[in-house]
Amino acid sequence: MRIVLDVDVCEGNALCVGLAPAVFELGDDDLLTVLEAEPDPDHWPDVEAAARACPKQALRIVRDPSQEELVAPPSPPAPWRSDGA
Ligand code: SF4
Repeated sequence: MRIVLDVDVCEGNALCVGLAPAVFELGDDDLLTVLEAEPDPDHWPDVEAAARACPKQALRIVRDPSQEELVAPPSPPAPWRSDGA
């Protein structure tokens, strides 16, 4: 597993730190640090919970860097269209 943090959208609210404190740390500057970019399997459930809970969808998890993302932020709903398309 590899964690990919999108620093451009992370708002530093520390939800992930609360769910996976062994993997994420928030600095005094409110910047998030990923302590274990490739976390121990014991931490995978916590990391997956953190990725799902992130309100900014700033965390992506890649189970195998050569594979597609296994756990990704939820996709936004498809836009409603009034033209029937
Ligand atoms: S939960 Fe998401 S937005 Fe909040 S600090 Fe973690 S990565 Fe950043």
